[in-house]
Amino acid sequence: MLDIPAIRSDFPILSRKVYDKDLIYFDNAATTQKPRCVVEKIEADYYNVNANIHRGVHFLSQAATEAHEEARRTVQRFINAGDPKEIVFTRGTTESINLVASTFADACMQPGDEVILSQMEHHSNIVPWQIQAARKGIAVKVVPVTDNGELDMEAFRSLFSGRTRLVSLTHVSNVLGTINPVKEIIAEAHRRQVPVLIDGAQAVPHLRVDVRDLDADFYVFSGHKIYGPTGIGVLYGKEEWLDKLPPYQGGGEMIASVSFEKTTFGELPFKFEAGTPDYIGSTALARALQYVSGLGMDAIAAYEDELLRYATARLQEIEGVRIFGTSPHKGAVLSFLVRDIHPYDMGMLLDRFGVAVRTGHHCAQPLMQRLGVEGTVRASFSFYNTKEEIDVFIDAVKRVAAMF
Ligand code: PLP
Repeated sequence: MLDIPAIRSDFPILSRKVYDKDLIYFDNAATTQKPRCVVEKIEADYYNVNANIHRGVHFLSQAATEAHEEARRTVQRFINAGDPKEIVFTRGTTESINLVASTFADACMQPGDEVILSQMEHHSNIVPWQIQAARKGIAVKVVPVTDNGELDMEAFRSLFSGRTRLVSLTHVSNVLGTINPVKEIIAEAHRRQVPVLIDGAQAVPHLRVDVRDLDADFYVFSGHKIYGPTGIGVLYGKEEWLDKLPPYQGGGEMIASVSFEKTTFGELPFKFEAGTPDYIGSTALARALQYVSGLGMDAIAAYEDELLRYATARLQEIEGVRIFGTSPHKGAVLSFLVRDIHPYDMGMLLDRFGVAVRTGHHCAQPLMQRLGVEGTVRASFSFYNTKEEIDVFIDAVKRVAAMF
């Protein structure tokens, strides 16, 4: 059981007003709010241990280095990776996917080779592959989505060919909420000797993720969606794969030695961390992971599921409502439209009631085309939300619907 009032008091922003109304923050799939302990960690680190890491002999530099490497171990434990060297810090999910797309295409793909994506991917798991497709002549194959918003697994199996080199799919859809059967997907791909990248941006904040149990080859997520700061994210990669890939960017930190004749690259994970790393961000992310671990990922998942079920049932009271994504396996994301009310109109008017939702294509235009809509309204929940907030939201949706 989570103590929701106590949790809410950890998030100062939740007690602010917007337009004289209590803020109801239902835009958690876009970014989550930050608990006081994360913000205080950033302040404390700047005040006490700020120094550039890895190269310094002095006290502060060593303290900052140790804090950054301890943060890596915290991430490793959080997703149950086998070794800290399999954890690469990046700027976020987008950079992690670009890193893999670029280096994997260079090292492991020839013109005519194929990568399998799905119709429910975020643009950040589509466009990097299109860039490589144009650069390297590789082909992108797409798993279709069924009417209730699940991956068509029959079609998935039929997309494999002798040229398939990688599968890159989202764990949880940021629009439909669907939790994809990634363990089964990875096993299917491995049976054909194909590695798999999982975009965990919407999964890691809400579910217990164990990369070794999943047997994922690459798993990526963003710090800011799991109560950490912006600008920091994670690429997990199995050592055997990260070893095969060339560096993504060159510069300081990622080398073993440099001369104009020959440069050699550093060990994992430093080979992929060119330049001064975000050591303040990594330690604040680690603090956020400790915070959610303290609450318990299973308790978080159970409570958010309760919120989703309650909100879904209440939303269905409204005449003319259409919910996008009705899989029985869903994270706490609710995309909907009411009659032909434009999502922007709904979003702007809900905002006036203090309710923050996201509207539009949610960086998933191919999925919008599949659903036959321009955009949706999306409410996405966190463990700090409540049924009372959902009641205010439903009331506001009803009032907006009555205006049209
Ligand atoms: N993948 C999914 C499923 C997402 O929901 C998002 C962000 O909304 C991203 C990738 C991109 O994350 P970021 O912008 O933090 O890199």
